[in-house]
Amino acid sequence: MKKKLKAVLFDMDGVLFDSMPYHSEAWHTVMKSHGLTLSREEAYMHEGRTGASTINIVFQRELGREATQEEIESIYQEKSVLFNSYPEAMFRKELMVTAFDVKYGKPNPEPYLMALKKGGLKADEAIVVENAPLGVEAGHNAGIFTIAVNTGPLDGQVLLDAGADLLLPSMQALSDHWDTLFEKNT
Ligand code: CA
Repeated sequence: MKKKLKAVLFDMDGVLFDSMPYHSEAWHTVMKSHGLTLSREEAYMHEGRTGASTINIVFQRELGREATQEEIESIYQEKSVLFNSYPEAMFRKELMVTAFDVKYGKPNPEPYLMALKKGGLKADEAIVVENAPLGVEAGHNAGIFTIAVNTGPLDGQVLLDAGADLLLPSMQALSDHWDTLFEKNT
């Protein structure tokens, strides 16, 4: 793998961009305004799902039914408005895989398979860097070596159980260990 590595597929929220506290706060606040409960910590467990999937999990649990299309659109819209009141980082759009590109979302391998396709990469030419259990599962299911960096409040064992090949406590630790993990790309 050391010789073949051509790309690192970074998860964004919680890895490149410390946005997860905002996401979890936004989910919690919007659900509460609809009389529904989604704790900030539970939001970390759903990180990487599509908005519709997260909303339906809460609806099924608390109301015993799926949300209607209108409810999904309106709740997700409110959550996005709240989240977007925070600053955004800049990335190269053509190499990003976003919520608009995917149909299934994590833990389906789709987002990382799409990233390989966009980058013209084979699974063994890349590694995934992830912070969320569902994201680790997605990277693992895409057949890519997956490093978990535990930047949130969850127990690291959750990330190992999800299929992480390596668990690190922070992005700084990944940076510190980089040279021993991977030889320079030549
Ligand atoms: Ca993430």
